[in-house]
Amino acid sequence: MKRLLLPGWERYDVRRDPNDHRLDPVAPGASEKFHAVRVFEGRLAEGATPVVMEGVALCGAVVRLVANREFDFGAEAACQACVTRAYGGKRMK
Ligand SMILES: [Zn+2]
Repeated sequence: MKRLLLPGWERYDVRRDPNDHRLDPVAPGASEKFHAVRVFEGRLAEGATPVVMEGVALCGAVVRLVANREFDFGAEAACQACVTRAYGGKRMK
């Protein structure tokens, strides 16, 4: 099974959905550091809504929210320890 590298956050916010009035988990602001989490393909449903899921990032941090999109290595808020581990210690840009 394919493994994906997805962005994950140590904390998350909630926002009330204007249509069904349920509280949806949302990623914190763009400046909040995010980690790289390996997730088996199929574990997350397709779609833009991030999933509340406890996991351990490549750097060892515990994340509580995972988004179903590619980990962005070039982002300012990307955890550098995770980036380094993803490339086996080599830095890539
Ligand atoms: Zn990290």
